[in-house]
Amino acid sequence: MTTQPQHLPKPFPPKLGYDQLYIDDDIDDNHYEPDQWKEIRLRPGLTAEQVYQKLPSAETFEYGGYLTKTRIRFVKCGSTSADVPRHRSSCTFHSHPTNLSGTFPDLPSSSDLYGFLFKEPLRSITVGKNLVWVFNKTPKTLPMIKKLKRWQTKNLLAVTRELRENPKYEGRVLDEFQNIALTALGLDWPSRRRDLNDSLLKQWPKLIAKTLKFDVTVYSRNQ
Ligand SMILES: [Zn+2]
Repeated sequence: MTTQPQHLPKPFPPKLGYDQLYIDDDIDDNHYEPDQWKEIRLRPGLTAEQVYQKLPSAETFEYGGYLTKTRIRFVKCGSTSADVPRHRSSCTFHSHPTNLSGTFPDLPSSSDLYGFLFKEPLRSITVGKNLVWVFNKTPKTLPMIKKLKRWQTKNLLAVTRELRENPKYEGRVLDEFQNIALTALGLDWPSRRRDLNDSLLKQWPKLIAKTLKFDVTVYSRNQ
């Protein structure tokens, strides 16, 4: 058996039942044309950080993709959203536009946090302009995933109806819903409009670890 390189997560023991938490949670393999995919080859022996330094970003749109033992595979996605087939790897990534007005590339969005709990990959990487955020699920994350699913089953219809009826949330019902879901799990995630500053940046990884129970590593990005 070949060993897992550092840049990929170790699978959970089957007894934890992780696989059963996610059913039919994926986009179609044909979502992108085969020739839209690009790839970066990884030579053996790189550390996780060395691999993550190679993740691409662009100024005005997002890339989305996934990592294999020997490749970073990625596609050009929307200006502020990225979606990739998740069954291809337990480690996915997306990059934020580094120079798009009104966006804050170095701050994972509430949708990034919510999506990580709600989607199957064990590791998810958000590539900003100066920072790379790596989220890892641990066995302690599993109760939070179940809690989110229970909360959502109970509240989805009522909360979305309320948001849809309020003109204030027009065009951002989903974002707001995800914020509310995170708040229900104990995380009051800052809005994208709040300024990033160093002291907050130091607190946030710890805050995520404390409330959502996943491991967070933040790397400075070499430009
Ligand atoms: Zn994002």
